[in-house]
Amino acid sequence: MADPAIIPALPAEEYERRERRVNSSLQSLWDLLDAVKDPEIPAVSLWEMGILQDIAMQGDRVIVTITPTYSGCPAMTVMAEDVLQALADAGYADSEVVTRLSPAWSTSWMSEEAQDKLREYGIAPPGQGGGNEPVEVLCPRCHSDEVRRLSEFGSTACKALYQCSACGEPFDHFKPI
Ligand SMILES: [Zn+2]
Repeated sequence: MADPAIIPALPAEEYERRERRVNSSLQSLWDLLDAVKDPEIPAVSLWEMGILQDIAMQGDRVIVTITPTYSGCPAMTVMAEDVLQALADAGYADSEVVTRLSPAWSTSWMSEEAQDKLREYGIAPPGQGGGNEPVEVLCPRCHSDEVRRLSEFGSTACKALYQCSACGEPFDHFKPI
């Protein structure tokens, strides 16, 4: 029986990611890239999603490291283009996006704030449990647990399609991995 008073520890990778930002000398660049949102979920930034990993300078060149969410996620190309565009708009013409695949991204890297924003956007968040634990899917509209899964795949492969039996709302659930 899980004790609800115990807050699950932040995964080490996510802790280190936050430390990289806090300790970075490039704060203005981190702030700048807060404007880049997940193309599939425009309410949430790449940082909040746990996708944006690191920012470094090599001379005048900005090197941005990102970790894809789901392998083969079609939105990754768009994300990289959006990062380069945001940097170019701010005068950083020479930039590069590097993709880091290991350690693999996990929904547990998403912040509480990101999960709240997902819910407000109408998507049931993955929860903090991690890939192997069952998650309770609640309707993001009325918070009922009387929901049923209509399809393993919702608007994108990383989401499943549900419908709420209480209010009738169909919604996506971001699958935990
Ligand atoms: Zn509902």
